[in-house]
Amino acid sequence: MIDVLNPADGTVVGQAPAMTLSEVNSAIDRTCEAFPAWSRRLAKERSELLRGWFERIRDDKAAFAELMVKENGKCLAEAYGEIEYGLGFIEWYAEEAKRVYGDTIPSHAANAQVMVVKEPVGPTAAITPWNFPFMMITRKVATALAAGCTMIIKPSEETPLTAYKLLEAAREAGIPEGVFEMVTGNPKEIGERFTSDTRIRKISFTGSTAVGRTLAGAAGQTLTRMTLELGGNAPFIVFDDADLEAAVEGAVGAKLRNSGQVCISPNRFYVHEAIHDRFVEALAERVSQIEVGEGMRDDFVVGPMINRTGLEKVSSLVESARLRGANIVLGGRTHGLGGLFYEPTIVTGLDDDAEMARTEIFGPVFAIYRFRTEAEVIERANATEYGLVSYGYTRDLGRSFRLSRAIEAGMVILNSGSVGTASVPFGGVKQSGYGREGSFYGIEEYVDVKYVLMSGLDR
Ligand code: ADP
Repeated sequence: MIDVLNPADGTVVGQAPAMTLSEVNSAIDRTCEAFPAWSRRLAKERSELLRGWFERIRDDKAAFAELMVKENGKCLAEAYGEIEYGLGFIEWYAEEAKRVYGDTIPSHAANAQVMVVKEPVGPTAAITPWNFPFMMITRKVATALAAGCTMIIKPSEETPLTAYKLLEAAREAGIPEGVFEMVTGNPKEIGERFTSDTRIRKISFTGSTAVGRTLAGAAGQTLTRMTLELGGNAPFIVFDDADLEAAVEGAVGAKLRNSGQVCISPNRFYVHEAIHDRFVEALAERVSQIEVGEGMRDDFVVGPMINRTGLEKVSSLVESARLRGANIVLGGRTHGLGGLFYEPTIVTGLDDDAEMARTEIFGPVFAIYRFRTEAEVIERANATEYGLVSYGYTRDLGRSFRLSRAIEAGMVILNSGSVGTASVPFGGVKQSGYGREGSFYGIEEYVDVKYVLMSGLDR
């Protein structure tokens, strides 16, 4: 068994199975064997089963939220927020299941009809991270099942309890064995099984760019298609014409969500030199009011880092900035609570060669850079191998359009710090991956286009 630890105090919250290879293989077999019948179910039936799953979870929100606080460390308010976000995908795809439309194309030949139909790709697999233990799973499973695919999930071994509870709710709602399966154990071994089995026709992965590259390389051998949602290095640009108060609020919300352990968390704050000092002052005042602590309470608190490696990474990035002569305006140390808590931190006086300008920080650290011109900041914002999301604050419409075109990212968010919901396409470009999740684009990743020529209609 795998012990699951509460990052807030190190206690054991529960256990998940460390499955043997033969147990993993059996689960893959069930996923593959269930596909033909599931893909032939009426779209309406698949939709109703997904709706049933949605309702089961909705009636049990408090238990899910508590479990998420315990195994992930996020606060209760954030856990409820994630449940709403994650339920949104089940609801959306329960509806979308009925709308996987094809086309007819004017025929190129006499007495013929050209049809284009969309068919589910087949049995699928997914590997998910620990930072959104609920939403990452509903987002992938609901899409796959709606399209008529079956799916086997390997959740993160840091947060498998929420995952198994989601599986239990799916079974109670009547989603059959095989249609949705789950395995936990040795990630590398399971990843290799997923990528080498030609019966698995698609893999959806959310996690680090390094692991994404390994999986995509292996999947290349079997030509298994992938959706990859990988690391980010999001710029957050505040122009001198921005609503400063809104920019501070947006910055705090986007940065401190999940203690900064989010792939779309702003990693580089570029603030125009004319407002730099005012922005930093307002941000410091706002952030210093926010508490740090264990999450089982009603107000928002910044929780712990997920594990020791995460804490050490954040500490070492801040130390490296300090050694380069950066100013630590706020925080800058492990928190007095001890354990895995880190102080919300604001660092200024950084240059683009700083280690934290190039690395995904994954912690509650605001790294702030000055800029002078629009052209300069766009170039600096794009000077990264990543391209997941970019944020911009400006009240100039022309500048908003220029920014939206010039930024190399899958998502550009203007005058808001909030990105995700079920109805929009989430995903990146460059080394942040490819493919989209959410919206009607998300389901396209799970269907094959089949061209059918019906000829000889006059005979
Ligand atoms: P994070 O930094 O978010 O933990 P990872 O990429 O390490 O990112 O983890 C994301 C998911 O990938 C987790 O479920 C983890 O268990 C899994 N994982 C880690 N290493 C491998 C691997 N070599 N093959 C397949 N999956 C892996």
